[in-house]
Parts: sequence; C-alpha cells; structure tokens
Amino acid sequence: MKTSARADAFERSGIRVMFELAEERGGDLVRLEVGEPDFDTPEHVIDAAADAARDGATHYTSGAGIPELREAIAERMATETNVPVSPEEVTVTNGGMEALSLALSAIADPDEEVIIPTPAWPNYRNQVILAGAEPVEVPLAEESGFDLDPERVIENLNENTAAIILTTPSNPTGRIYDEDAVKTVVEAAADHDAYVIADEVYARLTYDDDYRRITSYTDYEGVLTVDSCSKTYAMTGWRMGWLVGPEPVVEAATSLGESTTACPSSVGQQAALAAITGTQEPVREMHDAFRERRDYLTERVAQIPHISCPRPEGAFYAFLDVSELDGSSFDVAERLLSDYGVVTAPGGAFSDAGEGYLRLSFANSLDRIELGLDRIERLVRDEF
Ligand code: PLP
Repeated sequence: MKTSARADAFERSGIRVMFELAEERGGDLVRLEVGEPDFDTPEHVIDAAADAARDGATHYTSGAGIPELREAIAERMATETNVPVSPEEVTVTNGGMEALSLALSAIADPDEEVIIPTPAWPNYRNQVILAGAEPVEVPLAEESGFDLDPERVIENLNENTAAIILTTPSNPTGRIYDEDAVKTVVEAAADHDAYVIADEVYARLTYDDDYRRITSYTDYEGVLTVDSCSKTYAMTGWRMGWLVGPEPVVEAATSLGESTTACPSSVGQQAALAAITGTQEPVREMHDAFRERRDYLTERVAQIPHISCPRPEGAFYAFLDVSELDGSSFDVAERLLSDYGVVTAPGGAFSDAGEGYLRLSFANSLDRIELGLDRIERLVRDEF
C-alpha cells in the first residue's frame, strides 16, 4: 500500500524501539526510559475537571482556547518574565507537541530550514518535515556538556532559515543553556528574520537556580514560547499546552489548529485552568522529589567506574556517558535491557550527537532508581 513520501521520511523513534523491546522481554524491569512524571495529577485539578464536565463544559470551545485560560497563561508568563503578555498572544493547544507543530507550520515555508541543536528530542525532526521544511541538525559539543554553541548555530543560519529551536532545560541532556549564548543566537536570528522557538516545557523543573525564560532577557519579538501542563503538573495524558508569541503568528497557528483538531479539549482546559491558577504546592513537592533523585543519581554515577554524567540542571533526565562500553548506544541499551532488566533511551535516538550516551529518566521512585543503578553497575563491572 502506498504511503506518502512525507510519512516515509519519518524515522522510527529509538525510544519507541526500546519500549517495544521492553514489552516483549517483560519480567522485572526498571523503567528509566520514561519521559513523564511518575506522579498522579494533583487532586484539585482532577476535581475541577470532573466538576466542569458535570456542569456542561463538554462542547467545542474557541480554537484558541477559553478566554479565562488564555488570560491565566498570559498572566503567568508576564509574572515569570516581567514582560507584558496579552491573552491574544496566547493560543491553547493539545499539548506542547501541538504548539510546536502548529508554530512550525505557521512560520515555515516548504524548503525553508529549521535549525535543531542536537542531541535533541526526536519529534522536532519529524515535525519540521511535517511542516514541509528541512531540519538542519547542529551537533553541540560534548566537552561543554552539550551547552548551546552560538558559533555552530550561527554558521548554519542563512536567508532560508525559518527558525531555530532552543530547548532549555534540555531533553535529553538536562542542560540549561548559557544565557549569553542564547542571547547571541537570538540576536543572530533577529538579524536573519528567523524565529526562535523556545521549548520551555521543563522551565519549572530546575534544581540549582530558578530558570529564566528566554523572553525575560531578550527583546526580539520573534521568540515563540512553547510550554505545557505535562511535566510541571504531571498532566501528560491531558494534552494541554500553549504557544505564546506575536499575534499574527498565534492567529496563524490557531487557524491551522482549527483545521486539524478544532480546539483543545474543553474539559482539559478546565483542568489546565485549575492547575495554573490553583495551589502550586504539588508542583513544589514533585520538584523537590525530582531534585532528591537527581542528587542521588549523580552521586551514585560518580562512584561507578567507566561511566559518568554531567549533573543535570533541569528536566528529569541524566545523560550518561557510556562510550567506554562496547558498541553503539543502542547495543549498550539492548544489553542492559536483555541481560540486566533496565530500560533506558539510547543517546543515538536523539541524533548522532547523542551516540555514546544513554538517557536515564529520574521520573521514577528512589528505590527503582537505586535498583536500576545497581544493575547498571553490575553491567559495567561484568564488562571490564
Ligand atoms: N518538548 C520536549 C523537549 C519534550 O520532552 C516534550 C515531551 O516529552 C514535549 C515538548 C511535549 O510535551 P507535551 O506535548 O506532553 O506537552
């Protein structure tokens, strides 16, 4: 059966491959490949959604989302950045994923290029292709812990560049990009009339310092911010996200969304509203749990010979250097799964720049992380 060239150009995610191998293997597995909080959605959010559903919030909403939610998002962004944001500069989407996809389709024309510093979340590449544009992957330097390297990015900027995607805090590396480096890249993007897509879905999950959003320290109006409820509020399944940017881009994204999904879920929007405007105590609790796990994981890895990882500054991933072990990151991940029962995401799934690494998620209990590291240590000791 024929399938489109666009669909055929999609690469199967290496994370998905590991997931399926894990399902096949079964048994007592330690799942360290997951990209979502292990916590349940806070109770008050669930209550608000259930009440809203009973009260009739079960109909289509406006394509950009209900006014109260757009206002709440605008207000939160303004508070976090000290830059005024109006509700018209916000469109609510089905997860950060749809915000990214709509943003790319709203700004990129066929044959234009979108720069993706790597290692990076694999969906960017596919989404750029879906928008009809060309992904340009720019490998970041391993020696800097994959910090943003303005020179490497700027080298790839040209009159055909539609956008640069900056993910900070980063999935998969947990790195928060240096602010001066971000500023330099944003200024260069402005000089080339290219947009900057700031994927900040992990903005609230930083462990040493508060994260400063890119729009709080740059003033280029072509910065589009993507965020969502998924990671902050343990709401991955609710699919609630948003895009914040200049009105014409937000309107274009909304119009594209209206043709594909009509609007974000009505009940989900009520849940998002409760999450954003209600108590932030659950966010603090989850954050502190992630920090404790981050500290444990980093200290523990430091005691194991032949492997290492930079201390993750944000998100809930550690990027483990396993380059001293035999084979590709997929080989190591497969051995770890089949012989030791630990599921990880091979670094190669995040582009070639991630080869030699495994992404370990610490969105799992301390007990399971400890068991996972015991097993990883066994593999390392068995192989040396
Ligand atoms: N951006 C990054 C870097 C991610 O890791 C994810 C999810 O894993 C997303 C965006 C999208 O998240 P969601 O669509 O659940 O908001």
